[in-house]
Amino acid sequence: MNRRPLIAGNWKMHLTVAEAVRLAQAAAAASSACPDRDVMVAPAFTALAKVCEAVGDTPLQVAAQNVAWDKEGAYTGEISALMLADLGVRLAIVGHSERRQIFGENDAMINRRLLGALIGGLQPVFCVGETLEEREANRTFSVLEQQMRQGLQGVAKEEMRRLVLAYEPVWAIGTGKTATKEQAQEVHAFLRQFLAGAYEKNIADAVRILYGGSVKPENIDSLMAQPDIDGALVGGAALNAESFDRIIRFQ
Ligand code: PEP
Repeated sequence: MNRRPLIAGNWKMHLTVAEAVRLAQAAAAASSACPDRDVMVAPAFTALAKVCEAVGDTPLQVAAQNVAWDKEGAYTGEISALMLADLGVRLAIVGHSERRQIFGENDAMINRRLLGALIGGLQPVFCVGETLEEREANRTFSVLEQQMRQGLQGVAKEEMRRLVLAYEPVWAIGTGKTATKEQAQEVHAFLRQFLAGAYEKNIADAVRILYGGSVKPENIDSLMAQPDIDGALVGGAALNAESFDRIIRFQ
């Protein structure tokens, strides 16, 4: 199965608007130079409008770092899929471990956000991953299964094809510790198997599964050589134009 690779940068709570526009322009140039893969960046909400404007007709895709579950309403501090789509945003990260761990988002809330993204016409980038404690207690697969089952509740077959999945072991995010390519491949294969059981094989074969957790220029090529790794969700290394460029140009 030929899945189109996706290299995604998550800028978290970094960059002024001017800095974000400059970095997005660099990513757009790299994306135009690599037409066989997709490239996405997720700026902070404050920079989305200007970044969408700046990348215009280039192939670079712009994502939000989170999304509300309703179209509008009394939800102080939230931004809806409708508002994001209005800017030209096409995807939304949902269930990032920082939302789960720091802001207390649970599987039910993440499921609502994911459905909110789909209903609002955005492609969710749905993140799952175990903590170090869970891995050491041999609970990796049961934790992932629960996150998948609850996070994907109510997602129909046809919608599933629009979804991007990201495996992000919490112990590897921002720590400099990358999962080995074997550890990552093992989990990606498990997640694909889960999708085959919960949906059907051709859907499981079509869904892109990204790896995230200390991806850098030095490890991207070996990660991307794994059969079930279809791309990367990159935090720290996506904040530097040169290193993100190298990751986009993985071989
Ligand atoms: C992330 O934020 O999703 C991430 C994987 O961060 P880092 O690449 O810095 O580990």
